[in-house]
Amino acid sequence: MGEDVLEFETMAGAIIRFDLAKCDDCKTKACIEADHLPFLGPVLELLELKEGRPSLMWSKDEIKKGKCTDCVACELACQLHGNGGVTITYSMPKLDEYLAELERKGIKPVYKR
Ligand code: SF4
Repeated sequence: MGEDVLEFETMAGAIIRFDLAKCDDCKTKACIEADHLPFLGPVLELLELKEGRPSLMWSKDEIKKGKCTDCVACELACQLHGNGGVTITYSMPKLDEYLAELERKGIKPVYKR
């Protein structure tokens, strides 16, 4: 097997990261099914299985230019039915500052990034 991490950036600046070691142990590959919702059509498909692991159907450049629509369907499906292999992180510096400020004041935020 190749790399154990598949990581790419979307047009909105999200970092999508697949921990492929977790994907190896995943029974459902739910992210692929979520990515191939019939009503979206093949033009919006991003992922395919290669050697049992999620793989990109487009170059990282094409994805950065808008092939990924930031729908987060893959992450949701993975968290609900997969093995926790994919995480999506949006850069939100103001939110991070706000959460840090709460913690400095001794307030434990319910939401933690
Ligand atoms: S559903 Fe999650 S753990 Fe399973 S293959 Fe997809 S990203 Fe990996």
